[in-house]
Amino acid sequence: MLQYAQSPMAIDDPISLSDLLDVPDLSDVVRSFAAMHEVGLSVVEKPDRLLTTTTEDESLIRPVVTGPGGPVEVAGKEAGTAFFVVPLMHQGEVMAKIAVGPYRRDHEVAGRARAIAGHVSEVLEILVHNAFARHVTASMHTVAMEENFAELSAKNERLAKAVERMQEADRLKSTFLATMSHELRTPLTSVIGYAEMLIEGLAGAVNDEQREYLRTILSKADQLLQLISSLLDVSMLEAGALQTKPEPIPLRPLVDSVITGMGEMLRKRRISVTETEPGLPRALADGRQVREVLRNLLTNAVKFTPDDGRIGITLGIGPMRPDGVAGDDELGMLMIVRDSGIGISAEQQVHIFEPFFQVDSSSTRQYGGSGLGLTLAKRYVEAHGGHIWVDSTPGHGSAFTVSLPAVSEELRAFLERRERARSSHARGD
Ligand code: ADP
Repeated sequence: MLQYAQSPMAIDDPISLSDLLDVPDLSDVVRSFAAMHEVGLSVVEKPDRLLTTTTEDESLIRPVVTGPGGPVEVAGKEAGTAFFVVPLMHQGEVMAKIAVGPYRRDHEVAGRARAIAGHVSEVLEILVHNAFARHVTASMHTVAMEENFAELSAKNERLAKAVERMQEADRLKSTFLATMSHELRTPLTSVIGYAEMLIEGLAGAVNDEQREYLRTILSKADQLLQLISSLLDVSMLEAGALQTKPEPIPLRPLVDSVITGMGEMLRKRRISVTETEPGLPRALADGRQVREVLRNLLTNAVKFTPDDGRIGITLGIGPMRPDGVAGDDELGMLMIVRDSGIGISAEQQVHIFEPFFQVDSSSTRQYGGSGLGLTLAKRYVEAHGGHIWVDSTPGHGSAFTVSLPAVSEELRAFLERRERARSSHARGD
């Protein structure tokens, strides 16, 4: 099978026979023709380059290489010999010469040589025609690919620039937020301090109505302070300026102290804390950040649960990721906050961890908040290598699970103890 030469040329580059056909294959074809007709056969490429010949002594071909394109009989190097030369045409131009010979000069032989040369040139012209068609298609394909590539490269460059600009804008935003929240906190603490002094009567007696107004000022200022603190934390986390310092901490005392710290807000509620098993390992966590996570989850549980509802916190051991994540059976400490409140629909569940997202963001919204609590909780938990996720049914309640790494030796010892207890139970000890 004749191979077509693979040429990386452009469409309008001048093209030669050896660009289009593979020379060893061409030689095979030429040899089989020569054997069939029992003649010598040579192909010379323009300008005068011998591509292939069946004649052993190449010096005999010299007159053909330098001679005319034909069709013509050319005298051979040895006296009384000749070649018959015909042109191989491509797009109206002589692309190569085909020479039959050398043969003894004789009128009859010349006629036969002419016929053989003509036949070979017709066959080669068909091959050249097909190869050229393939060459054109391939070149057009290359041009199209090059254009696509250039277009893609330009797009890529524009994208990279856009990403760079976005990162810069994001960095500026984080710095702005961090500075602003810091600057807002200072005057606000003064407002709170002065309101407290007024309530305490340090600037003279206040009547009940004035005290009520001052309490409102205090509570709104407190709310604002919390919002600003959350903003500061989020922006510091984004800027990478807030470090997580994990150390072994027992979760039960932490949970109890957060509940006590939330005071009035929780006192009126039915709230239970359970540990799934005794002797749970300690978590490897930053106490301040885990407190903040739990405080946010409890604030939400209270906010979105009617007064007669239930709130429960469960501590235990379990997979670090929500169900359905294949190939991850790493265990850690789980802290689950359940409520019997309004719940969250499946569509909203995917958004609630986004900054400033609130299921009901209308101006008539009955619950306070900034939409930053869960964002912060997620960032804190993930900074520990943990995860946070929600299971919820609208109208029935929600369960937020936080997973945190456990102190590994304690976890191992705990699991071994549990295994021993199970097998001795199975043996009926
Ligand atoms: P917010 O300050 O508004 O509470 P969060 O980021 O803490 O902000 O929560 C985002 C939104 O997720 C809330 O506005 C609320 O719509 C929904 N949400 C969070 N926790 C609960 C819950 N326990 N029950 C019902 N909805 C909740």
